[in-house]
Amino acid sequence: MNSQFSIDAELLELLVCPDCRSRLALAYESAELMCTNGTCALIYPVLNGVPVLLTDEARKA
Ligand SMILES: [Zn+2]
Repeated sequence: MNSQFSIDAELLELLVCPDCRSRLALAYESAELMCTNGTCALIYPVLNGVPVLLTDEARKA
């Protein structure tokens, strides 16, 4: 359980991958945001409930 991991659904609608502009999906298990583009597949960290949408901070799935 990660009680700090909570992102508003409406906010999530607005978020896109900064690399490929695809939608992002929540990865609850790891508390991260995952790019839905299978080719890009970058995973972004969420720090204290704030998505860090920087390709420098992202990792490859
Ligand atoms: Zn992407």
